[in-house]
Amino acid sequence: MPHYPHEPFRIKMVEPIRLLEPRQRRTAMQEAGYNVFALRAEDIYVDLLTDSGTGAMSQEQWAAVMRGDESYAGARSYFRLEAAVQEIFGFRHFVPTHQGRAAENILSAVLVRPGRQVPSNMHFDTTDANIRARGGLPVNLVIDEAFDPASPHPFKGNMDIGKLKAFIETTGVENIPFGMMTVTNNAGGGQPIAMENLRQVAQIYHSNGIPFFIDAARYAENAYFIKIRENGYAKKTVREIAAEMFALADGMTMSAKKDAIVNIGGLLCMNDDSLHQQVCNELILREGFPTYGGLAGRDLDAMAVGLREGLDEIYLAYRLQQTAYLGDCLRQQGMAIVEPPGGHAIYIDAGNLLPHIPHAEFPGQALAVELYLEGAIRGCEIGSVMFAHPDPQTGEMIFPRLELVRLAIPRRVYTRSHFDYIAEVVGEIAARKDSLRGYKFTYAPELLRHFTARFEPL
Ligand SMILES: *Cc1c(COP(=O)(O)O)cnc(C)c1O
Repeated sequence: MPHYPHEPFRIKMVEPIRLLEPRQRRTAMQEAGYNVFALRAEDIYVDLLTDSGTGAMSQEQWAAVMRGDESYAGARSYFRLEAAVQEIFGFRHFVPTHQGRAAENILSAVLVRPGRQVPSNMHFDTTDANIRARGGLPVNLVIDEAFDPASPHPFKGNMDIGKLKAFIETTGVENIPFGMMTVTNNAGGGQPIAMENLRQVAQIYHSNGIPFFIDAARYAENAYFIKIRENGYAKKTVREIAAEMFALADGMTMSAKKDAIVNIGGLLCMNDDSLHQQVCNELILREGFPTYGGLAGRDLDAMAVGLREGLDEIYLAYRLQQTAYLGDCLRQQGMAIVEPPGGHAIYIDAGNLLPHIPHAEFPGQALAVELYLEGAIRGCEIGSVMFAHPDPQTGEMIFPRLELVRLAIPRRVYTRSHFDYIAEVVGEIAARKDSLRGYKFTYAPELLRHFTARFEPL
């Protein structure tokens, strides 16, 4: 039997959930235009749409909420957050933002110009879109193993160093306003990046005079993976490992809705003084005064506590083992998943499960819809709906290599019996997979289309 970790908490507030009848689920899905983002949350039994902002805050975080200082400028909440950010990340400047994408928007507004290119191991969808929205081009240079779901490489989020060097050479440093690394690699299966790789990437960026920004949404999970998988780190604390990671960079963007275990919040950090000044001006225009950045004082306080809790090694061990447990259960049901299990989610290889559905008919979407119809489970397609786009020169559709369905695990929310239920539902679907059919768009916007697109079964 797969190993399930003991929860390092007990429950003192409950949120009721209910399981709709199959007929009601079918109606709900039709009304949602076969897009799981358009479902009502109350119609879902186990919601694995995202781990973003869906975690359960602790009693200490709720206590901190009550201490929130709602002063417009210079609130005590800001200084408590500043202390936590300084202690963990160590950059010279930081501003709060309401989410990770707000930090990306501000950084892109200040640094990206039309035609400029921004390399990363793999940009997350909001980062990708924010760079494109400023006329820039996001470029993904992750190692090839990332595209082989069966490869057991321990750090599949690593940058391909050869590709990065070649990219800089052909693009020219003058066309690269900054470089990034997404830690862990969400779009590529929540896979971690080795410290050794971060060190090499930092060295290459810096020797070319390119500022290095980390997308730090899941930095704590990444640091724990380094501790358990990379030589020389077993005896270091996750905090020490995190400090070593951020000392390599010139700044970071972060969605605090992930490893800071809050329902809303983000961070933008940097060392450069003049960049900080420009960021503050843009922040005031778009988000708010630099001591609150689009958040309430209570949100800043919850983030300050959550940042520290997210680094607790007993919590992190539970978190990563819980994810691995779901992976074990799905494997037992015959599902191909992205191996090895990442930090925050299990990614089902829908392309492997449904080889009879071509990219253009969205196999991942077909599986995501079926998970709801069969068991009122909500996952998220990460495949052609999210990433297929026409080639700017030829107009021909370029499809992503993988068609995945992500089951993201909210932090400290679901228990073992929920995971066993998911395994049962997946088993039912696997048994009749040949009967599943593809989908086509009836509406699709240009950017971030997965959020609002509507579909029709084929
Ligand atoms: C969630 C996420 C973002 C965007 O953050 P939001 O808070 O949702 O705006 C950016 N990068 C990564 C890697 C993420 O997981």
